[in-house]
Amino acid sequence: MTLPLDPSSVELAARLKTEVRSCSVVETRPLSTNLHAVTLRGSASILTGVPGNDVMIRVEKEPGSFVRRRYSVRAVNPEQDEFTLWISTSHEGAGSAWVKRARPGDAVDVVGPRGKIHLDPMADWHLFVGDISGLAAFYRLAESIEPPGRAIFVVEIDDPSDAVTATFDEGLGVTGIFIDRCGRAKNDPAGLLSGLAAFALPPDEGHAYLFGEFSVVKVVQSALIDRGLSLALIHRKPFWRAGLANADHGEPVKTES
Ligand SMILES: Cc1cc2nc3c(=O)[nH]c(=O)nc-3n(C[C@H](O)[C@H](O)[C@H](O)COP(=O)(O)OP(=O)(O)OC[C@H]3O[C@@H](n4cnc5c(N)ncnc54)[C@H](O)[C@@H]3O)c2cc1C
Repeated sequence: MTLPLDPSSVELAARLKTEVRSCSVVETRPLSTNLHAVTLRGSASILTGVPGNDVMIRVEKEPGSFVRRRYSVRAVNPEQDEFTLWISTSHEGAGSAWVKRARPGDAVDVVGPRGKIHLDPMADWHLFVGDISGLAAFYRLAESIEPPGRAIFVVEIDDPSDAVTATFDEGLGVTGIFIDRCGRAKNDPAGLLSGLAAFALPPDEGHAYLFGEFSVVKVVQSALIDRGLSLALIHRKPFWRAGLANADHGEPVKTES
């Protein structure tokens, strides 16, 4: 069932110069302990263009009070007019609560496509580093690599079941490292740093994509620069911030706490 759009969604889309529609939930299913997939129907074809793009969904925070949450597009099926998001439920928040209670037929305002994340077509190898909130973007970006190419994933997880994998073109070299957080704080970069330290970066030209916790991605960026990767070849995007809810428009709070 689709419902009339909230006027604030229409205004937001006009301001951001993007699209807005009321989508309906087709299916939701747990992929692991902390990751849920949700498939939505409505204007899916406008999301086919740029792997790495995302949408803003409007979810209820408290009765009568709404916020927007941004989620990367994991897959698009234009024939069925459907697209899929992978949403982390490792924490208590309006977005994670929404996906856990969503049922087929529920309506949700969707603004987008949004985002500046895209694959570097010139890179010989692509390094994806972060937590499970980045998996949808990591895998969709990697699926768009022209073979022969190389994708390396270094992803921190809270539960062994969260090591959700994907299937890629046979011509692609794929290395995946999942690191158990072992109870470390969510803004502790030690796990990802040790995962990165476990292998040498390939010699030819590569591009790194860092999506995840605000301060973790910053530290990982510095570590990669120390290892010789230039800033221009690193795409860092904080997706969330430990201890702080994202702002009502969906971005992590950027001010120093
Ligand atoms: C461009 C972009 C693309 C994104 N794509 C995805 C995606 O594909 N999948 C996805 O799951 N997330 C994605 N995110 C991150 C997601 O929007 C945030 O995690 C958001 O904070 C979730 O909202 P919430 O209402 O559940 O939690 P909030 O209300 O924002 O936060 C509540 C509490 O939970 C903590 N928290 C929030 N998110 C996480 C998390 N992921 N892990 C651990 N603790 C957390 C916060 O620190 C806070 O203490 C993306 C963010 C951006 C900016």
